[in-house]
Amino acid sequence: MILPMGSRRTTAVVLGAGHAGLAMSRCLAERSIDHVVLERGEVANSWKTERWDSLRLLTPNWQSRLPGYGYEGDDPDGYRTMPETIRFIERYAEVIDAPVRTHTTVTSVRAIEEGYEVVTDRGTWRCQAVVIATGACNIPNVPAIAEAIPGHIRQVTPKEYRNPEQLAEGGVLVVGASASGAQIADEIHRSGRPVTLSVGEHIRVPRVYRGRDIEWWMDAAGVMDDFYRKTDNLDRVRTVPSLQLVGSDDRRDLDLNSLTEIGVRLVGRLAGIAGGKAQFSGSLANQAALSDLKMGRLLDRIDEWATGAGLDGEADPPHRFGPTRIEASPPLGMSLRDGAIRTVLWATGYRPDHSWMDVPVVDRKGRIRHDGGVVEAPGLYLMGMPFLRRRKSSLIDGAGDDARELSAHLCAYLARAATRRSA
Ligand SMILES: Cc1cc2nc3c(=O)[nH]c(=O)nc-3n(C[C@H](O)[C@H](O)[C@H](O)COP(=O)(O)OP(=O)(O)OC[C@H]3O[C@@H](n4cnc5c(N)ncnc54)[C@H](O)[C@@H]3O)c2cc1C
Repeated sequence: MILPMGSRRTTAVVLGAGHAGLAMSRCLAERSIDHVVLERGEVANSWKTERWDSLRLLTPNWQSRLPGYGYEGDDPDGYRTMPETIRFIERYAEVIDAPVRTHTTVTSVRAIEEGYEVVTDRGTWRCQAVVIATGACNIPNVPAIAEAIPGHIRQVTPKEYRNPEQLAEGGVLVVGASASGAQIADEIHRSGRPVTLSVGEHIRVPRVYRGRDIEWWMDAAGVMDDFYRKTDNLDRVRTVPSLQLVGSDDRRDLDLNSLTEIGVRLVGRLAGIAGGKAQFSGSLANQAALSDLKMGRLLDRIDEWATGAGLDGEADPPHRFGPTRIEASPPLGMSLRDGAIRTVLWATGYRPDHSWMDVPVVDRKGRIRHDGGVVEAPGLYLMGMPFLRRRKSSLIDGAGDDARELSAHLCAYLARAATRRSA
């Protein structure tokens, strides 16, 4: 076949050189599947360009296991800083000798007779299979009501936020109390800029439980391995917020109680903005009670597993944590015109960017339709999305199992396609 000018051919193209794309690359190489990894920036681009300075992984070092690679240092229970995380992923790319083409932005993927055409700003690739590993957190979610924020207030998302010194002196309204919102609220408030934290649905967990990291318990008890096919209400679990956790040397808790202790003011979910005034829902106490309840359920599951596994004699005894403390009548409104608030930080989640996808597999919310990472179009695969196949799928530690299974599927697909061609 004659390829169009500038067009190259390979068997599979992996889009994105974060840990998910690299894990898939390693699994494809193990199966001797010819492929390239196309990356718009450099390896670990998201960690290099989209994270704030003080961020540390909230998963302990031992928990970043990738196919053929794991933690090599002497602090398995520590939490990586951003430079350490970047180095870890870069080193992985080196160790597995991943065929990464950096500074190559994919602008279109479309179906052609013999597979897919991947168009980039550096030429075109033709292939039989495409693995989408471009990340789940490309675009910060900012609600439409942001337009009603008065012009003198600066609006920032966690993607642009680097440190408190970037912000004007004065009050900050942080919207969203999951991992990003809670960590950033804590840091900004400690910098002397009074923080009001608008709290919607959130998941409270202790950093350490019964003498071990909560991530250790969730991993050991099989919570991280909950499988998508055995999960009720998959749509719902795929949108649950991240855990309120922070990685720190003193393994401290980060929750609404720790935030109010340092003086952060809690308000309910931001429901609207009218006449220069922010309006908060009255559901704060309910949201907090629900979160406490869910934490109790998780700890019940862990305790039950620990008893079954014979760990009760070894680990500290089970215990429960005090309820989240909410003031009797949290404010339902706040002026955005009186100068007290100088910045609004939207920590309201992220979504993927699949705007380059020209195969009709994207739903009206911009999500790719798939069954555990096997996309509706034959030969297309997806990695790195929340609960793609397991609860841990969007974490570094989740990429290995998903890549192994999806590369097996991809390999079988290629074999079937070869049989069809020869027939
Ligand atoms: C604030 C934050 C904290 C997190 N903390 C943890 C943690 O503690 N532990 C943990 O395990 N996970 C954590 N995660 C989740 C997860 O590990 C990261 O989101 C991770 O970056 C996802 O890896 P990925 O390979 O799926 O995507 P990414 O790392 O985002 O990689 C995708 C790559 O695709 C590239 N790309 C995108 N579009 C294109 C295109 N059109 N053409 C070419 N290349 C493209 C990007 O440049 C990027 O390099 C965190 C996420 C966030 C946002």
